[in-house]
This record gives sequence, structure tokens and C-alpha cells, in this order.
Amino acid sequence: MTLPWLTGAKEHINRTIEQQRLGHALLIVGTEGVGKQQLANWLARRLLCLGPDAGQACGECRSCRLMGGASHPDFFPVGIPEDKKEIPVDAIRALSEKLVLTPGIGSNRIGLINEAEAMNINAANALLKTLEEPADNAWLILVSHQPARLPATIRSRCQPITLHPPERPIALDWLAEHCPNHQREQLAQALSLSGEAPLAARELLEEDGLEFGIQVLDALLAIAQGQPVTSRIDEYWWKSPARTWRWLALWSSVLVRHAHRLQSEQLPLDRKLPSGLDPRGMAGLWEQALSGRALSASSVRHDLLMIKWLLEWEAVNHGGTSN
Ligand SMILES: [Zn+2]
Repeated sequence: MTLPWLTGAKEHINRTIEQQRLGHALLIVGTEGVGKQQLANWLARRLLCLGPDAGQACGECRSCRLMGGASHPDFFPVGIPEDKKEIPVDAIRALSEKLVLTPGIGSNRIGLINEAEAMNINAANALLKTLEEPADNAWLILVSHQPARLPATIRSRCQPITLHPPERPIALDWLAEHCPNHQREQLAQALSLSGEAPLAARELLEEDGLEFGIQVLDALLAIAQGQPVTSRIDEYWWKSPARTWRWLALWSSVLVRHAHRLQSEQLPLDRKLPSGLDPRGMAGLWEQALSGRALSASSVRHDLLMIKWLLEWEAVNHGGTSN
């Protein structure tokens, strides 16, 4: 999948490589769904390729073929294990050990840490040691949408690469091509709700269902106006908990900013947000929705968690406290 708005960043990286100024530790940052992982993978292929052509991996050499099959012996991706909420120290230690070995195919080894902010403190400390003594032929690429959560000692040792969302017309054209079943107006709404990040907008449209998201918002607004929680929730919500939690988290983030009077969000179909929300209570709800999302694959009772969440939402709107 080609992401046209990454071209500028790729050209910048290629110039840095030509000038031999590419740091051995890179930190790719930017909002969720802007294409950070795609850029990181492009760079990993580019650095591992045995015969890069015009600043791109050739796609044909042994290294490129192995990358295509996700079995390259010199490429070490790390992320949050499926059953965990953070990157454990063992994963970083294993990565560090592999990075100092002699490359198996070309001359470089690449470590890639996705969601680097999820490293626990021990993992971050272990990584720091590797960053302090970089091997000549080893490159570390960190990807993070919340770099502020990384220790300053790690950030200061990385060369930053910031990805910005594309201009609206470019994002709309790309979305129109990849979400052909949606109207232009829906594409624009999804972009507004995704911080203009096209991949996040596509996920909202294709996987999370913008219409369902609006139903969730309407249920929240109805409860805020005094309708009982039980009248607004149905089984569909916990049939795919990941989707529902994602929407609850997204609306919570909008409502937190609204409670702090930070900005007036562009809501779908001109919905009006409730006034006088308690920012702390709202922040607590946002946190809970994110936890719910992280637990969505586990066997907890999502129906109970969601009803509890909605009762707290009701309390936040009626002067009660949420805890
Ligand atoms: Zn190649």
C-alpha cells in the first residue's frame, strides 16, 4: 500500500543516508494512523537491501525477498506481546543481544520497536545500555505516538523523525481510493475524528463503522440528557467489545478536550456536546475506555464493564463523581 504523504520523509531520510548522517537510533513520532510503521518498515528494507535503487529497496535481492516473507535473519521487530500491556525487559534484552551479532546476509542489522512508549522501566533501562554503545552495523528504529512517555534519556539519544498528517485534499483522495463505499462527507468526518491521520480514518470507516460510532455518541448524549442507561445499550455493544471501546475512548478524548475548553471539536452531524462536564471525571472515563480496549481480547465481562462505564458517564453528567 503506497502512502503518498510519506514521500517527503523518505526523501529526507535518503539525503541523510547519502550524507552519512543517519543516526544509529531513530525515533519516528507522529499521531496514530499517520503511517509511522510503514515508514519504519520502508527504512528497515532500505537499510537491509543488498542493492538499493534510487533510494528504495530493490524488492528483488535475497534480503528484500526475505523481508517480504517476514523471515529476515537480521531484522528484529519488537512490540507489545499479545497477552501483555507493555513491552517486557526480556524482549529488549533479546533484541540487544541479537543486534551485536554479525549480520547473516548483508552488512546491517535492524531492530524495530513498535509502540516504544509501552516499554516498562526495566525494558527502557536495558535499551539505554544498547543506545549508549551502538554497534557499527546495527540500527535501531523506535516508533511512538506518545514520545513524551519515553524517558528523556532515551529520547535524547535518538534522531527524531516527525511524521505530520497530509493536507486534507491529499488525505481525502487517498481515502476515497481505499474506502470506495463511503461518501466524501463521511471521509471528511472520519479524518476530523482521527486527527487527520488517513490510516486511522480508514480504520474508523472500514473496521469500526462510523455509523455505529455515531449511534454510540447519540446514546451517550441521550444518557447525558436523562435517559436511563439500560434503554440505550444493547447486546451489539459487547459482541465486538474492541470496536465499542474504541468508540467510547474516542468520544471520551473529544469530551475531555471539551471539558477543558481546549477546542470545539467538529462532531458528526452537528451534534452538540453536553456542557459543564467535570474534566477529572471525564479523564477517568477515557482511561477506563482505553483499559477496556486493551482487554478486548480477554474473557472479562465486557457487558458489565460497559454498563459500569455508562453509569459513571451518567454520574459525570449529573454532578456526581466518577472514581
Ligand atoms: Zn533489495
